[in-house]
Amino acid sequence: MPGIVLVGAQWGDEGKGKVTDYLAGRADMVVRYQGGSNAGHTVVVEDREFKLHLIPAGILHPGTSCLIGNGMVIDPQVLLQEMDDLERAGVDISMLGISPRAHLVLPYHRLQDELEEKSRGVGRLGTTQRGIGPAYLDKVARTGLRVSDLLDETALKDALSRVLAEKNRLLQNVYGASGLPPEPILDQLRVLAARIASLVKDTSLEVNKALDRGETVLFEGAQGTFLDLDHGTYPYVTSSWPVAAGACLGSGVGPTRIDRVIGVAKAYTSRVGAGPFPAELTDGLGETLRQRGQEFGTTTGRPRRCGWLDAVMLRYAVRVNGLSSLVLTKLDVLDGLPAVKICTAYRADEVITEFPPSLKVLSGCEPVYEELPGWEGDIGPSRDWAELPREAQDYVRRVEDLAGVPVAAVTVGPERSQIIQLRPELLP
Ligand code: GDP
Repeated sequence: MPGIVLVGAQWGDEGKGKVTDYLAGRADMVVRYQGGSNAGHTVVVEDREFKLHLIPAGILHPGTSCLIGNGMVIDPQVLLQEMDDLERAGVDISMLGISPRAHLVLPYHRLQDELEEKSRGVGRLGTTQRGIGPAYLDKVARTGLRVSDLLDETALKDALSRVLAEKNRLLQNVYGASGLPPEPILDQLRVLAARIASLVKDTSLEVNKALDRGETVLFEGAQGTFLDLDHGTYPYVTSSWPVAAGACLGSGVGPTRIDRVIGVAKAYTSRVGAGPFPAELTDGLGETLRQRGQEFGTTTGRPRRCGWLDAVMLRYAVRVNGLSSLVLTKLDVLDGLPAVKICTAYRADEVITEFPPSLKVLSGCEPVYEELPGWEGDIGPSRDWAELPREAQDYVRRVEDLAGVPVAAVTVGPERSQIIQLRPELLP
């Protein structure tokens, strides 16, 4: 009964989409457990690029059930667009299931996100302004609308008019914006309801039944450990729980059902938006990594900040997620560099080897690097560990030592086939 969680071990954008897509080929079911359309996965299948924001990347494998768990927040417009795009590309989406407990992201959430972020001025968080934070805020405030509300139009109308009256007071009185009328929102929700009614199912029940049958279920995290609301670099975090524990919460399974947790980390580090980043490279090398790694947001197109791999972060990710292994992605991006570095500690008043909870400490510290020789040539065509240059192998081995968990696989390019398994026994 393998329940496998796949989680980002850095600040998101680790290439989880590709790894999920790869593992989904061996899974019976893929469940996404948190986040909304602020996440974006890019998967390349035979020269075709798919950008997925809400629907689990497993949808690209015919026969794999894909569930949108209760922990997610769904923007109707984005979901409808994504369903249309996939269908147009000939992808069968009949295996999609949507939790009635998932919350909805509505136009007033987007507006609220935009206005709040603007009012923060220089202290802005760098949100994607997709309304995700405000939607989670309403969930906690118990004023959110859920997928289940779509299925009863009268109740939906009542609930929306109640919530909207409150929201419009906030938009008008605090932000001086115009209020929103209910009708266009209701129209959009009617379209969504008609389109997804047959896909709404008790996803917790589905997942547990699949595990009971001995099937392989992949729990797909979005964003990453350092964007986790509790364990990330608060307040520069997302409004949900990407860490492995979030998989239980956001899909309705107990911790005893999780057998393995696979962390996905890039061979270097990137971060989008504001917040401290000790191993950041602000020089030409940072730009080289950005260009080679195409480090621009899938959802917003924003350039990502880039830096060396940070083993202090990796060890923390291993700890808070209980990682069993790592998949190291985008190793090819480091091709041809004369030397590669790994941050092994931070220097503040003293040398710090455990990721500090204090943003002040994190902002003020200097990275301590270990330098390793780089490698020549293009590793993109390699499909076997033995084909990798020795220096690349040494780099991966050193990452294992520093992180304290084995690397199960490395990826060497965006294509589905560009993956090298080091320890197949650690993968499904
Ligand atoms: P995610 O949110 O973690 O899935 O990450 P993104 O989709 O934002 O970023 C991954 C990007 O890197 C996508 O454009 C992928 O096609 C690409 N990618 C994934 N794996 C590799 C790899 O091994 N090498 C290279 N060069 N690109 C990769």
